[in-house]
Amino acid sequence: MNFVNREKCPACSVNNLRTIFQSPFNKPPIRDYLESFYSPQGKIEFEFLEGAIFFLCECNVCGLIFQREIPDNSLMEKLYEHWIDPQKVFNQHLEQAGLEYYSSYAQEIMQLIAFFEKVPSSLSFLDFGMGWGRWALMAKAFGLDSYGYEVSKERILFAQSNGVKVVSWEEMPQRQFDFINTEQIFEHIPQPLLTLCHLKKALKPNGILKVSVPTANDIERRLKIMDWKSPKGARNSLNPIAPLEHINFFRRASLDKMAHAAGMEEVRIPLKYQYMYKINWYGIKQIAKNILVPIYQNIFKSKNYIFLRNAQ
Ligand SMILES: [Zn+2]
Repeated sequence: MNFVNREKCPACSVNNLRTIFQSPFNKPPIRDYLESFYSPQGKIEFEFLEGAIFFLCECNVCGLIFQREIPDNSLMEKLYEHWIDPQKVFNQHLEQAGLEYYSSYAQEIMQLIAFFEKVPSSLSFLDFGMGWGRWALMAKAFGLDSYGYEVSKERILFAQSNGVKVVSWEEMPQRQFDFINTEQIFEHIPQPLLTLCHLKKALKPNGILKVSVPTANDIERRLKIMDWKSPKGARNSLNPIAPLEHINFFRRASLDKMAHAAGMEEVRIPLKYQYMYKINWYGIKQIAKNILVPIYQNIFKSKNYIFLRNAQ
């Protein structure tokens, strides 16, 4: 078996769980889902999934929905480095990353620098799970001391060739960062609470850490319909709980409980800094969006996009 079992909630550590769905990985509907999801990005070898079950559990305390049986380290590596073909996804990245992709990074980094109220050259940022290193590279362009962490060798080499400094897991706590970015990372990792505790050690006393994970406020409806054929981005899509990859689905309460368990608390980027550094103001729709999104984020907390600091 290439799988490990998670007995406790990986976000809040309690043992109060219920199973909401179960089905073998190598039988329909999960088999068909995996086949159609991985073919365009590379391949999938079902012999490694034999005997394993897609167990979807829900934590009765924090509401985290998570996969109980997850790939072990060697199968994770196979999945992210071989089934998902690095060359193929790199080419997709080059084709799909338009101006909007880069400008959203620039916008976020400007809002953060404004929040710290310091000159960029005095700040040190880490992108945890940096992928090809685009975010870290953008931070570097603003004059910051910019670091990245990544497990994929191909991605590390590409980021390094662009001048991004790479740190290892062990080195992180010895460096002290003003900001740690985690963008679409925590839904993939086996032990999110332990990882958060590790990252916390790498923060300066007034440093902040961002957790941004998929949001699906209507997950109950989607789970009731259980349409495994619905594509990513569609109304009924089950991508937020994608077998093997999105092994943790966070509700807002799950993020709050996990932060609390790690001794952290939420901090908000003041609206003035968010508005000051919004880039695109063309058109009524965009203007409305620019004004409303920060309010929804800060006040209604409707998006799984939060900033954390050491509890004061
Ligand atoms: Zn929990």
